[in-house]
Amino acid sequence: METPDVIVKGKDNGEGMVIHYKTTKGTDVFGLAIPNIYTHADWDLGPTWCYLIAGQKITLIDTGRIGNFEVFESLLKSTGKVFSDIDRIIITHSHEDHDGNLAEIISVAQAELWAHKIYRQMISYHPNIRDGATHPELPGSCRLCRMPESFYYENCVPYHRARSSLKIDVAIEDDQKLPDGDLNFLFTPGHSPDALCIILDEEVIFTGDTLLPGITSHPSLAYDFKVNHLILPEEYGQKNEIYGLMNYIKSLTKIARLASQPLKATLPAHRLFYNGRFNLLDSSERAKEVIHFHIDRCRDVLRIVDGKPAGIEDIVVQHFPPSRLSGTGKTLAKNEIRAHLEIMEACGDICWTGENQELVQRTGSENYLDIIGAYSRSS
Ligand SMILES: [Zn+2]
Repeated sequence: METPDVIVKGKDNGEGMVIHYKTTKGTDVFGLAIPNIYTHADWDLGPTWCYLIAGQKITLIDTGRIGNFEVFESLLKSTGKVFSDIDRIIITHSHEDHDGNLAEIISVAQAELWAHKIYRQMISYHPNIRDGATHPELPGSCRLCRMPESFYYENCVPYHRARSSLKIDVAIEDDQKLPDGDLNFLFTPGHSPDALCIILDEEVIFTGDTLLPGITSHPSLAYDFKVNHLILPEEYGQKNEIYGLMNYIKSLTKIARLASQPLKATLPAHRLFYNGRFNLLDSSERAKEVIHFHIDRCRDVLRIVDGKPAGIEDIVVQHFPPSRLSGTGKTLAKNEIRAHLEIMEACGDICWTGENQELVQRTGSENYLDIIGAYSRSS
């Protein structure tokens, strides 16, 4: 991918930056880096990159973290557009750093809202379905919220309310091609059950959080399916094909094997620009790299429990450097290890032992290698 033009120079982590990329067909694409700061963060993910496609129709992909409406408006101005120019807004997934500001922007823009069909269930409330939800009072996307309560009650409640009443104009069906269009959708669940990648002119892939440079997005858990299956549209509630690391790996495989590879440009939702430089990706190579990263993580977990059963806490401490384990870092790290244990348990490589089934034990097999490896090898 060629280095995009910089229209507005932002901070060293990209925040406040505006970039421009022109496709071979001549479609203008702008990237707007919306601040992504929240009070409980112990590390800097960097801004959320939202993208404006100025084709026959004006399309906005994602609307950034809550509380940044004015910033968004001023960055948009530098592209020569205003909110009322936008015809449609596509949301890559139902996380607050991607569809924050959506209710405000959509009311000003009067644009259509496009999202995967599961998005409706993610933004709606389902208080009567509990099924082990730790927060049945929160919308579908947050029924298992693992953040401190003070965080979501301060920040998220007004956002959830406004979001829940939005009307979805176009509910995207899995891998969908627009009949008249230059946009294709790739359904890539795993990080979030409603995650989409968007392909423009068979040349640019907008990956949301599914594929990021330098970092790997945290996978959901297969367990989340048990809690949420009754809130899902019927065709997704029967068998888990949308939650957990294995489904995330299947989604990465889809990207690695795209028929139109190699795509010229990959535009992710975070880290496009970081530490003063661009991180330009080959989507296919990066997808394979991330699959291998997860294989290596499984291998290390097995090494840690080899010979002596260990609890999740022990595994986390032995696997991650201490710098990753302060504050919410520890919650995320535990979640990450759980996602890997789920795969290895399903493959028969580990089992649970101890008085309260709280310890992980090796069974001796390494089936995960064949099962995950099958995805990465055959591409
Ligand atoms: Zn994100």
